[in-house]
Amino acid sequence: MELKTGDIYKCPEGHKAKIVWISEDKKVIAVRCPQRHLSKVVKVADHTKPALQHRNYPRKERKIYAENMVFLIRI
Ligand SMILES: [Zn+2]
Repeated sequence: MELKTGDIYKCPEGHKAKIVWISEDKKVIAVRCPQRHLSKVVKVADHTKPALQHRNYPRKERKIYAENMVFLIRI
């Protein structure tokens, strides 16, 4: 079956994403997924815990999510 832009295709995490671009040789497609994906994890100061020293708060990880990410997929 021929793929075309606007078709639904699975993103790398298995969501229903929409094809927004197809390469001329049809070997690579770009899909935009409306679901949330983990973008990166950053370390932030945890103000819910008491500081060990002045301005030295315990650290915790905060996950940053991104919506509408575009993935390039080799098919
Ligand atoms: Zn997705």
